[in-house]
Amino acid sequence: MGEKKRAIWVFGDYRNYFQNRVTLQLLSRAKELAAKIDAEVCAVVFGHWTDEWVGDALSHNPTFCGVVGESIAHGADKVYLTDHPRLAAYSMETYALLMERLARREGPEIILIGATAFGREFAPRVAKRLGTGLTADCIGLDINGEGLLVQTAPSFGGNLVAEIVTPERRPQMATVRPGTFQEIPHDYVRKGEVKRVSMPEGLPADRVHLISSERFLPRERKLEDANVVVCGGRGMGSRKKFAKLFELAELLGGEVGATRPVVYADWADHDALVGQAGKHIRPQILFSFGISGAIQHTAACNDARFVIAVNKNPNAAMMKRADVAIVADASQLCTTLIQELKRRIR
Ligand SMILES: Cc1cc2nc3c(=O)[nH]c(=O)nc-3n(C[C@H](O)[C@H](O)[C@H](O)COP(=O)(O)OP(=O)(O)OC[C@H]3O[C@@H](n4cnc5c(N)ncnc54)[C@H](O)[C@@H]3O)c2cc1C
Repeated sequence: MGEKKRAIWVFGDYRNYFQNRVTLQLLSRAKELAAKIDAEVCAVVFGHWTDEWVGDALSHNPTFCGVVGESIAHGADKVYLTDHPRLAAYSMETYALLMERLARREGPEIILIGATAFGREFAPRVAKRLGTGLTADCIGLDINGEGLLVQTAPSFGGNLVAEIVTPERRPQMATVRPGTFQEIPHDYVRKGEVKRVSMPEGLPADRVHLISSERFLPRERKLEDANVVVCGGRGMGSRKKFAKLFELAELLGGEVGATRPVVYADWADHDALVGQAGKHIRPQILFSFGISGAIQHTAACNDARFVIAVNKNPNAAMMKRADVAIVADASQLCTTLIQELKRRIR
């Protein structure tokens, strides 16, 4: 019998599927990493009512093929699927136990999980059960000369960016922030294998029960996917002045981002937070109004194509890294831009 192929696993976090593309982004990066270590890419899906999706996945129905088909279309060579009524709602304990058992049986080289609210809770539990390390909130992944996963993550309060490897323990585990990698275009003709994994007998009862859940209406556009982001910081001066950024973003067809002090002051929702504790953005154009440019913020907007910064301090870090740096009052310049755009867009 030939040697078993090494595997990179991506946990299929699909409940927020259409809003949250992190699983698909991870599959695409996993595919690139797998090529470097001659491994296969596997998605792991736990849930209920996934049966018809499997049928569709295998017949390559391009209109709706659910999480299994989408995983294959986005780079998975294999999907491990456990379908059971107990998995209809996310259950931290059961999911962690299932992942542990499956990983012990199959021995993946690497497990990648999205740093979503669920992933951040789930991944450490799985790592603990498997007795391995975990790098949380990675902003980069690569393979080094020794074939080890290099996990790039902010550390020491975000003041340093560290490259972490797991030389001894297996699997090598990381959570990755949504928006860090770009998903590859789907390919519904791609073929993959679906391995059904039955629910083990005698699982301990969940200690946490879901009583009810409520779906937040998705925002039409998302900060992580926006081509234009208008980001504001404490230098905007007040909540009222900050509100002008929404008008500007609307005129530019963009989204509003914010720094931590702004979110703490309640000038913007937590949803708008850009940075280590918030979203990673990669717009074509980033406007930065009254932002100093602390690493905890800039680490998440380094992928912006073109940066226009407005600050009264020409030496602010954000001004140094901008393509265009305008020394001005942020709020006043915002007003001028809005007036000018309104005059021109008729
Ligand atoms: C563990 C940890 C995690 C963190 N995570 C995040 C995160 O995810 N996101 C984040 O943003 N921060 C984060 N921070 C905080 C971060 O370190 C900075 O404190 C924060 O980004 C600063 O926000 P700011 O630029 O809006 O404010 P400030 O640093 O106060 O900068 C305000 C800027 O506005 C300029 N200014 C003032 N008045 C005007 C004016 N009238 N016109 C024009 N410019 C003006 C000033 O010159 C200054 O450059 C984190 C910190 C820690 C320790």
